Amino acid sequence: MKTYNLKCTECGAVYDQNYTWPRCEKCGGLLEVEYDYDKLELSKNFRTEFIKQWKYRSFYPIGRKPITAGEGGTRLKGVGDGLFIKIEIDNPTKSFKDRGSTVEITKAMEFGFNRVVVASTGNMALSVSAYSEIAGIEAVTFVGSGANLNKIDMIRNKGGKVVQVDGDFNVAMNEAEKFAKSTGAFLVGDYLYRKEGQKGVFFEIMDQLGFNPPDYLFVPVGNATLISACYKALLELKKFSLIDKMPKIVGVQAVGAKPFVDYVKTGKLKKVSIDTNADAIAVGYPTYAKQAKEAIEKTGGEAVTVTDEEMLDAMDMIYRKAGVCAELAGASAFAAMIKHKIREGKSAVAVVSGGNI
Ligand SMILES: [Zn+2]
Repeated sequence: MKTYNLKCTECGAVYDQNYTWPRCEKCGGLLEVEYDYDKLELSKNFRTEFIKQWKYRSFYPIGRKPITAGEGGTRLKGVGDGLFIKIEIDNPTKSFKDRGSTVEITKAMEFGFNRVVVASTGNMALSVSAYSEIAGIEAVTFVGSGANLNKIDMIRNKGGKVVQVDGDFNVAMNEAEKFAKSTGAFLVGDYLYRKEGQKGVFFEIMDQLGFNPPDYLFVPVGNATLISACYKALLELKKFSLIDKMPKIVGVQAVGAKPFVDYVKTGKLKKVSIDTNADAIAVGYPTYAKQAKEAIEKTGGEAVTVTDEEMLDAMDMIYRKAGVCAELAGASAFAAMIKHKIREGKSAVAVVSGGNI
């Protein structure tokens, strides 16, 4: 078994590996996996192994054979001088969420659960349902009233059970937590194990660039788990001397759902109402806001917005350059990269996070 503890991000309370609830029982804060890095080792064939999600297994809190659908190994495609897109649509359920799901559902099996519950804007539940089906366990999803109906249909087709709540994503999250507590289901979603799995996107980007970090990394921000995972992944690569500098992390939100951008500017996190069609990043109150703010500030990055029209234009450009259909939110980071006008000689990567349309 690997050496790690679970630590509360608010009060610092420490829990052992067998504690299955994702929040601190003392203060309700999010728990975080804290490795003893001195005891972690890269896998033996690290330098020659194919680039895939589980190549970086040393950095995931898993001690058993993974439940996998072949996630990761997604393309990093050049789209101009020093500019790249990481095409997460290449994943089994067409979004980066599969990297979190493979770790979470493997963890559910390790703990011995036969049912998981998740709150989702769509893509996450789609992914969790697919991995639960592979593992042979039940998946229950809570979605907000603004959830994408096509995605709900797709979740049901994967055998997932869907409960639509009267309210937004944050209401769905509260309901999922209540359901987990009352039924004993394993709570998955934007919590510690998903965050660990999502680091895979950034391990791969750096690996594909020969561990020469770009100047900028553009990451879409909904609940802010991916951008927090980005920072943790980069810190880990630095700790293992695989990279020697940190890219500037740029968090991207829709103009019509920008609680995180406001938070970075004002230092106060306030819930906002949603006015965007980019459903996958339409979150009024991001769970990982604090960690995401740190990611931006510690790397000299920033938080920016793009309009739905700019995302539409970016979708079009992604299709022309890479032949894949991104969804609106999936094109947000690329839209921001174009808008940013990266100077000559500088390099940047934008994560194209999903393509469920
Ligand atoms: Zn606590």
